[in-house]
Amino acid sequence: MGEARFIEPKTVEVKLNAGGTRRLRGDRVFLDVGTRATIPNVPGLPAAAPMTHVEALNLDRLPDHLVIMGGGYVGLEFAQAMRRFGSRVTVIQHGKQLLEQEDPDMADALLELMKDEGIEVFLDAEVLNVTGRSGTGVELQVRVGASERALHASDILAAAGRTPNTDRLDPANGNVRLDSHGYIRVNDRLQTSAPDVWAMGECAGSPKFTHIGEDDCNIVLANLAGGNRTTRGRLIPYCLFTDPELAHVGLHEAEAKAKGVPYRLAKLPMSRVQRAHTLSQMRGFIKALIGADDRILGFTAFGAEASELLGIAQTAMIGGMPYTALRDAAFTHPTMAEGFKGLFASPPAARLVQ
Ligand SMILES: Cc1cc2nc3c(=O)[nH]c(=O)nc-3n(C[C@H](O)[C@H](O)[C@H](O)COP(=O)(O)OP(=O)(O)OC[C@H]3O[C@@H](n4cnc5c(N)ncnc54)[C@H](O)[C@@H]3O)c2cc1C
Repeated sequence: MGEARFIEPKTVEVKLNAGGTRRLRGDRVFLDVGTRATIPNVPGLPAAAPMTHVEALNLDRLPDHLVIMGGGYVGLEFAQAMRRFGSRVTVIQHGKQLLEQEDPDMADALLELMKDEGIEVFLDAEVLNVTGRSGTGVELQVRVGASERALHASDILAAAGRTPNTDRLDPANGNVRLDSHGYIRVNDRLQTSAPDVWAMGECAGSPKFTHIGEDDCNIVLANLAGGNRTTRGRLIPYCLFTDPELAHVGLHEAEAKAKGVPYRLAKLPMSRVQRAHTLSQMRGFIKALIGADDRILGFTAFGAEASELLGIAQTAMIGGMPYTALRDAAFTHPTMAEGFKGLFASPPAARLVQ
């Protein structure tokens, strides 16, 4: 147990947690060093010692007023949890919408959820400087749009991006090259610039999800056993575990528009899914992009059990099934899966992009 850094190709020196160092040389080296929460470069912020998710998950007290820097999935999951525990919560988001990678209709639905929970959200906003110390009291100067305001809070949580843990790895000593953001350069078989050295997971710039880190490892293992797997074209499903959940796989609508991919849009409010009524959770909606050959290009659900719907859509996409196969299936009543019948009952005939 300790921290490794390259001292020469395929050789690391480990600073042992128990004290002392150990030198290790491998015929093959696998790098899986991950990322850590970025502390944004804001005057006074490092001295204020903001929490990251690590400290937030170890809290044994309730913050009076928690300011969360970042309106991505980490920020929003903590915002809702801490608000429901009883904290006052303010989210400061740099972009003009929450969850910048999501379509605007989904981001708006999440904003509405946050507001309904009593969470204060500032969009198009940034923290300009901080005084005080998180945990005992902080004062923040915040720009919101074109104006500035002061915020007093008890705690800060930094949830504004990730920094790869390659800065203390001395990768150059191992002939391992990084990209301009500090991620390890890999090809689609996850091989680095150094022979017999692979990188996997977040440090290799792969999408930041546990199942993708695991899939990276499986790709490398399969290839070492004589297989021929790559990261090319794989589906990246993910879920934001708020209550209710937001789940997505494949193309976003905004992405299809930007790339000029023709699609038809199927959209259904959760209130039209009978299971949602039995659960008394009618918030949200489901949407899917249908391609020219009737296959599903992308799927997003915001609502109860969205992550379980996701698996069904992903399976159909992996199998290359037409959307009509789900439309015409006799799903058990009353389950969320039945929602696919309503979703695909009558998608518009016209394609949105030619
Ligand atoms: C708050 C939060 C919630 C999340 N929720 C989800 C979720 O619901 N679903 C999901 O799919 N993903 C989720 N993720 C993302 C998921 O945790 C990561 O994508 C995943 O852990 C990445 O795996 P990894 O192996 O790349 O890196 P890590 O899991 O970060 O592992 C890297 C390890 O390497 C160690 N290390 C670093 N440098 C060195 C060194 N020089 N020498 C030795 N060891 C070193 C680190 O200490 C660490 O233990 C969440 C992340 C956060 C922060």
